[in-house]
Amino acid sequence: MIKFEHVSKTYPNGVKGLQDINLEIEDGEFVGIIGMSGAGKSTFIRTINRLNNITEGKLTVDGVEISNLKGKALRRFRRKVGMIFQSYNLVPRITVIRNVMSSLVPDMPLWRVILGLFSKNDKMRALEALDRVSMLDKAFVRTDQLSGGQQQRVSLARTLAQNPSVLLADEPVAALDPVTAHEVMDDFKRINDELGQTVLINIHHVDLALDYAKRIIGIRSGRVVYDGPVSGVTQEI
Ligand code: ADP
Ligand code: ADP
Repeated sequence: MIKFEHVSKTYPNGVKGLQDINLEIEDGEFVGIIGMSGAGKSTFIRTINRLNNITEGKLTVDGVEISNLKGKALRRFRRKVGMIFQSYNLVPRITVIRNVMSSLVPDMPLWRVILGLFSKNDKMRALEALDRVSMLDKAFVRTDQLSGGQQQRVSLARTLAQNPSVLLADEPVAALDPVTAHEVMDDFKRINDELGQTVLINIHHVDLALDYAKRIIGIRSGRVVYDGPVSGVTQEI
């Protein structure tokens, strides 16, 4: 469970990214974060895996106050709470499977990735994750040969291979056309249904959030202005 208690985040320049957030997210939820550009959606998501440090309040994940995590414990935590970005962050000139496997060995230098020094177990886990997002047939294709939607699915597989219990996604479909965006959202939905992972996604296309999420959190000026079911969402958020 993710629990925010009076959480605020003020950036060094004085901008208030988040203001007094109080909420809980249970295991297995599918949450869509909506709000206008600059509302604080990205700050909210990034705060949950400590890409941002909070400046006030308490944020706990499975009972652990994450502000206290350091070094190895923080790295382990970030594998448990996986993150997917709008820009896929893949290494372009190597194959899909190597991109996925490289996440299993976080400190592996790039030259080892290029030489393909992986264990059989890493390969199995990578192929399994690719299968989850219907990308098994592209495992041995170079990532720069793939379309945007396919790259985002590989990026999702790379995070999935780490077996996270929470998936955070910061505008994962913003760069994709509507049809491809739906395909990627379908993958998130299937993973949430089949594996029971908690999914939190920032989506500036409200319609897409309403189609997929079960719970909507609306943010404006760093504050939660809506938190509830899809059916209660109004224009103002
Ligand atoms: P959203 O994801 O909803 O577009 P963000 O969380 O990116 O919004 O931004 C919320 C507010 O915080 C905005 O006013 C933005 O300009 C500001 N902000 C975001 N990142 C930083 C930063 N690193 N330093 C200062 N201000 C920031
Ligand atoms: P998307 O809307 O996801 O970007 P595209 O319409 O660009 O999809 O791609 C459709 C198909 O074309 C995909 O199956 C993909 O394999 C192929 N494709 C796209 N870009 C390239 C590329 N640069 N090299 C090879 N195949 C590509």
